[in-house]
Amino acid sequence: MLPYGKQSIDQSDIDEVIRVLRSDYLTTGPEIELLEQAFCQATGARHAVACANGTAALHLIAMAMNLQPGDEVVVPSISFVATANGARYCGADVVFADVDPETSLMTPATLEAALKRVTPGKLKAIFAVHMGGHPADMPALKAIADREGVFMVEDACHALGTTYTTADGREHRIGDGAHSDFAALSLHPVKTITCGEGGIVFTPHDHFAHDLKIKRSHGLSRDADEWTNGELAFEEGTGAANPWYYELGEVGYNYRLTDFQAAMARSQLKRLPHFAARRRRLVALYHQKLDGLSNVVKLVAPRDGTDPVLHLMVALIDFKAIGKTRKEVMMALRQRGVGTQVHYIPIHRQPYYARRAVGLDLPGADAYYAKCLSLPLYPDMTDADVDVVVGALREIAG
Ligand SMILES: *Cc1c(COP(=O)(O)O)cnc(C)c1O
Repeated sequence: MLPYGKQSIDQSDIDEVIRVLRSDYLTTGPEIELLEQAFCQATGARHAVACANGTAALHLIAMAMNLQPGDEVVVPSISFVATANGARYCGADVVFADVDPETSLMTPATLEAALKRVTPGKLKAIFAVHMGGHPADMPALKAIADREGVFMVEDACHALGTTYTTADGREHRIGDGAHSDFAALSLHPVKTITCGEGGIVFTPHDHFAHDLKIKRSHGLSRDADEWTNGELAFEEGTGAANPWYYELGEVGYNYRLTDFQAAMARSQLKRLPHFAARRRRLVALYHQKLDGLSNVVKLVAPRDGTDPVLHLMVALIDFKAIGKTRKEVMMALRQRGVGTQVHYIPIHRQPYYARRAVGLDLPGADAYYAKCLSLPLYPDMTDADVDVVVGALREIAG
């Protein structure tokens, strides 16, 4: 059975985990900073902050932005639910933006339409999602965020390795912070690299990087410059910092990554060039081999100036034209050893959010959802596996 996505673990990854298991620190050790430095190098980010998972990364970002009940954020309706949930954890209300039905990306136009539904004065942040690995139009979205005077956040969970070139000819790597205040990455097994569970926050801002690190570890500060409780913090007379002292200024969480996970993630990051090359090659094969079926099965073409490393191979299937429901196609593919999944059910359709946005109509998200089906794509998939998938689709589509 070919799954829609799968991790690729080799001996070098395993060796790194074992090395750390035999070392002194399983958590709060030296591996975290090494991973953060490796991510800065790989992406061009100024700061990378490792944490427990991609959802924790989104929650930490929401806390760093100081989202409060009554604040509003814009999130595209096509994403994993965690993009919206991160802001909800802080009590913010989510205003869902529609997406382009072909690319499933929020566009400047769908963002502008969503901004008309925001309560005046309440908007705090705009979230872009690089669906499947295709980058949203960050320069244009960031310009709108700047005009509104709000934070720009990228949910980059699908897009490690993706690059895009701006009008000035400069190439940008996802995470480099050129067009956002924060970006979130997930290290879940179906994502581009993994350590089981894990997440990264990227930010170009020094003060937020410091704040994120405090918030991922209960909210405790061990930095004497930040302590306010002089009586407990400092020795009477000498004024020297007490060696046991730590201080809780604001409440945080335990969102730490373990050191053995960090070592595994760093090992996987070394393999990113290989993973990216495999994913790009498999996507090119899909495009080539599905060309003859393009009247009923469409793949999203990369936008001009973008070079995505795709996480998902989303096919847009005209189920009406082939006379089969999505369920029938999914089951027929499964019988032929091909696993598929739907990414995603529009978030504004989930009961929790539908209750909060009664009557909201997002036709682009619905149109995309009606057609999408994610085909197998992962680095250990062979070129011949693509033939298996395409052959099965050809039979089923008639
Ligand atoms: C996977 C994913 C997340 C959540 O990441 P976890 O590591 O599973 O918590 C958030 N947003 C998107 C778009 C994702 O694909």
